[in-house]
Amino acid sequence: MHLTQKAIAERIKNIDVVIELLDARLPGSSANPMLATLTQGKPALKVLNKQDLADPERTALWLAHYNALPGTRAISLDASMAAPAKALIKACFELAPNRGGMVKPMRVLICGIPNVGKSTLINTLTGKRAAKTGDEAGVTKVEQRISLADDFYLYDTPGVLWPRIIVAKSGYNLAASGAVGRNAFDEQEVALELLDYLKTHYPQLLEARFKIDGAAAMSDEQLLEAIGRKRGALQGGQKVNLQKAAEIAIYDFRSSVLGRITLETPKEFAQWLAAGQTL
Ligand code: GDP
Repeated sequence: MHLTQKAIAERIKNIDVVIELLDARLPGSSANPMLATLTQGKPALKVLNKQDLADPERTALWLAHYNALPGTRAISLDASMAAPAKALIKACFELAPNRGGMVKPMRVLICGIPNVGKSTLINTLTGKRAAKTGDEAGVTKVEQRISLADDFYLYDTPGVLWPRIIVAKSGYNLAASGAVGRNAFDEQEVALELLDYLKTHYPQLLEARFKIDGAAAMSDEQLLEAIGRKRGALQGGQKVNLQKAAEIAIYDFRSSVLGRITLETPKEFAQWLAAGQTL
């Protein structure tokens, strides 16, 4: 992290716009709160990626939230889209209208926590045009300068921008989304937290997927058990294998077979921060 911080601080001097790639299913939790300090108030473009997996109504809430912040614009996309470049380039020029042309090309830094879809987006944006500029001293990864047009350069962040988990809910949401490695969390705990949220906000999706009634009225544990039973995750006769049931619940959320779900709204996220829940 230290090397990444140093590299961003060094690179930022010659950057006009900072793109932060966020997971549209958990925009608050997938942000790195350190980035605002590191990027020293440069114009910011928040890109809500994986919009195809997220709840469209909530994506609209997050876009409005970010677009209301000074020096900030937000767009949503999915990195696998055929042509996300147009909206992204347009938003950058709106944020830094003084840039453009060969003399003052637009210089954009793209940042995001692992698994948010940065490589996919860069590949989609560039096709075959990716250009490596070579090693930079003290940087763990080769930094890439990618030319999207004659007057538009995209710099990939060197190093890894780990998520900074500042409230407990963010940790659970990151784990549910797949942003945190499998060995770093307890699946049953994450599944119970996930089900707790889903039964309140998306009970109909749970009921439809797992063919259960009255999900909202069940305890989290009852819900996990019911899911395991419905999906045949049993051990030794009729006992539910809760570990397997947890893996099923998490997998079904991640792969969006449950439906398009967003695990936090701007208001909820602000409340979690204000309540200062700690891990
Ligand atoms: P990186 O670690 O940020 O470079 O993330 P990757 O580009 O490797 O993407 C992580 C995973 O998310 C991969 O399985 C991608 O296929 C998937 N992914 C990336 N962008 C999207 C998207 O917009 N929609 C969906 N559904 N999946 C995506």
